[in-house]
Amino acid sequence: MSLLEVKDLKIHYGGIQAVRGIELKVEEGELVCLIGANGAGKSSTLKGIVGLEPHGGEVRYAGASLKGRPTHRIAAAGVALVPEGRGIFPRLTVAENLAMGAFTRRDQAAVRADLDHVYGLFPRLLERRQQTAGLLSGGEQQMLAIGRALMSRPRLLLLDEPSMGLAPLMVQKIYETIQMVAREGVTILLVEQNAHLALKLSSRGYVMESGAITLSGPSAELAANPQVRAAYLGE
Ligand code: ATP
Repeated sequence: MSLLEVKDLKIHYGGIQAVRGIELKVEEGELVCLIGANGAGKSSTLKGIVGLEPHGGEVRYAGASLKGRPTHRIAAAGVALVPEGRGIFPRLTVAENLAMGAFTRRDQAAVRADLDHVYGLFPRLLERRQQTAGLLSGGEQQMLAIGRALMSRPRLLLLDEPSMGLAPLMVQKIYETIQMVAREGVTILLVEQNAHLALKLSSRGYVMESGAITLSGPSAELAANPQVRAAYLGE
């Protein structure tokens, strides 16, 4: 049984069919990427998985259907989405944002341990813990968004374009962290326009084009595929 199984997922916005019946699987412990150009339907796919967009088809997580389940219950079951644009609370401090990630949890001792763990992964967040989140740099906000998601102890982490708008050094740093989180056993579905990085980091990938999956396979094979190289790796 796969941890995440998406079957015939369809999403439309009025007359626009953004996702046209895609299939996708993520096994426990895998880091899988979903790459594709602007507007291919990647974000919509993630929103469909967590119940933020109504959809046709089926989404199964840990063997159970997520159909009709409200987003907060999907989150409570262990699925965390770090949305494009990060979705942090700009007027709250770094520490308050992290606390929000754990607000449904009752195990206070474990929450404190997880907070230490997140500060260990992102020492920058520890330094800035009393700062208003809206004043952080883009890279720091991305760290905060990932840190906040980790505070819910996710089993499946969905990342929507974590490299978006960041300077190369910061992208590198964020990717190292994603790798560390993956090594700790969190299953990750990574959506990226930056195919180069995403294929390096992941073991498997899917290529999405105009709402459909056009290619899939081991990331090394995708990175060597002439079609992928021409369309997504700028060669
Ligand atoms: P990007 O990297 O630019 O976010 P994407 O691959 O994530 O691209 P989506 O954001 O899923 O693509 O968008 C897929 C299509 O659906 C696009 O044509 C987009 O304009 C359209 N779309 C997305 N959200 C909405 C919405 N709320 N209302 C109407 N159309 C939408």
